[in-house]
Amino acid sequence: MRELDPALRRAAHSRLVSRRIEVMTGVQAQEVTENCVKLKDGREIPTENVIWTAGGRPNAKVRDLDLPLTERDGVRVDRYLRVEDRPGVWALGDCAAIPAAEENGNSVPPTAQAALQEGKAVAKNILAVVDGSSEDLTPFEYRPLGQMVELGSQFAVNEVMGVKFSGLLGALFWRAAYLMRLESPQSKARVAADWLLGLFFEPAVTEIRRERC
Ligand SMILES: Cc1cc2nc3c(=O)[nH]c(=O)nc-3n(C[C@H](O)[C@H](O)[C@H](O)COP(=O)(O)OP(=O)(O)OC[C@H]3O[C@@H](n4cnc5c(N)ncnc54)[C@H](O)[C@@H]3O)c2cc1C
Repeated sequence: MRELDPALRRAAHSRLVSRRIEVMTGVQAQEVTENCVKLKDGREIPTENVIWTAGGRPNAKVRDLDLPLTERDGVRVDRYLRVEDRPGVWALGDCAAIPAAEENGNSVPPTAQAALQEGKAVAKNILAVVDGSSEDLTPFEYRPLGQMVELGSQFAVNEVMGVKFSGLLGALFWRAAYLMRLESPQSKARVAADWLLGLFFEPAVTEIRRERC
């Protein structure tokens, strides 16, 4: 997974600090008890609420399939998204270990942005095979369009096509991009209405802020 740009990381960090959120990096949680989180370096954080996030992993179901797997990234495919040693089988998305174009041993990141591009690439390649022109297969090349991280409804840190920006403008851009990406007009209307109502009503419990507790 690509790391967040250092300047954007600093902007996100100072935003969190300004909201009285302490960020600890380079330390792992070892144990969660009913009233604290124990860190590997011996420190303890007294709390009864723990919210945990982690990176993506391939669905465990792929282990039941008779397909070649890498140790952690999923089904082993070549640059054309063909499963190795399984003619006629293709894999993409979070379940596939797709070699990055840089040939540095890394895989394409398991993100929606990459999965959408992979979908188009695999569709073209399958059509080429169906049409009997296997020599016209196109190697998949991931083109990252940028990264956007929303921190609350009025602040986001973005890097879009090399341009970095943050703050309210970042949040508005994040929302516009999100709406554009939603497929159905119904989903767009629902999400836009929810954001609009959010201007007039109290935040949902999933958006609890410390000063409100
Ligand atoms: C909390 C969270 C936040 C994320 N945020 C972002 C983000 O901001 N930006 C970004 O780019 N990516 C984000 N991702 C990653 C992104 O969602 C995935 O990379 C993307 O959805 C992968 O697409 P996919 O088609 O491979 O898998 P999925 O979208 O997971 O689709 C797999 C489908 O297979 C179905 N399925 C599962 N098991 C079976 C089975 N046994 N039989 C039949 N069907 C089955 C599932 O129901 C699902 O519909 C996020 C992921 C999570 C979990």
